[in-house]
Parts: sequence; structure tokens; C-alpha cells
Amino acid sequence: MTDCLFCKMVNGDIKADVVYENDQVLAFKDINPQAPMHVLVIPKRHISTINDLEASDTDQVGQLFMAAKSIANEMGVADEGYRTVMNCNAMAGQTVFHIHLHVMAGRAMHWPPG
Ligand code: 5GP
Ligand code: ZN
Repeated sequence: MTDCLFCKMVNGDIKADVVYENDQVLAFKDINPQAPMHVLVIPKRHISTINDLEASDTDQVGQLFMAAKSIANEMGVADEGYRTVMNCNAMAGQTVFHIHLHVMAGRAMHWPPG
């Protein structure tokens, strides 16, 4: 998608502070971090929302979590804990319509989230 912010990060038109990459996913620091560590993990292929997922995307979605696991290990937060969140549509707070897994750590998280 040419007008998608995160697709522009994948193709290099907009610079991202990349922390992890493989052939299917890209992970970069959130520009407005909500925790000492706040990384977004995205599929390189454009998918707008969870509602747009198809059965053939199963591996891509699994890759997001495998990347989150690797990043948490690498950043040394795996044992103390971290939160993963994916918002779907406006009421849940989705503002960028290219799915992304938030990975946050470094402070106590509360439940339920706001
Ligand atoms: P959402 O609200 O859709 O779940 O999350 C979108 C996230 O993207 C937000 O946490 C926001 O701070 C982040 N974000 C928005 N624009 C940019 C940007 O240009 N660069 C980076 N690195 N993150 C962004
Ligand atoms: Zn996109």
C-alpha cells in the first residue's frame, strides 16, 4: 500500500529505528513509547486489521509472536515480563491501519488496560 505509514517503513521510504527483521516481519521502536521498552512488530505484507486476516496469514501472525519472543530475550526483559497488544479498529485504539503487535516492558503493567 503506497499510502500506508508502516509499508513505507518496510520499503525504506520512512526511516525506522529497527530492532529486528527477517523476511516476513520488521520490528522497530515506537515513536511515542508507553513504556521504557516499546517496540512494534509488523508483517512486511500489508494487512489493515485483524478483521482482514485470512487463513493463509496464520504463519505471518505466528511470526509476529516469534519475533516478540526474540526481541524480549535480546532486550533482557523475557523473565521479568512484557506485554503484547494488538488493537483492532477505532474503539480499541487502532490508529495505524497496518497490523502491529505492541511489545512493551520495563514497568509494571496494569490490568485491565485502559
Ligand atoms: P495503534 O494505536 O494503531 O495500536 O498503534 C500505533 C502506534 O504507532 C502508536 O503507538 C504510535 O506511537 C506509533 N507510531 C505512529 N506513527 C509512528 C511513526 O512515524 N514511527 C513510529 N516508530 N511509530 C509510530
Ligand atoms: Zn501497510
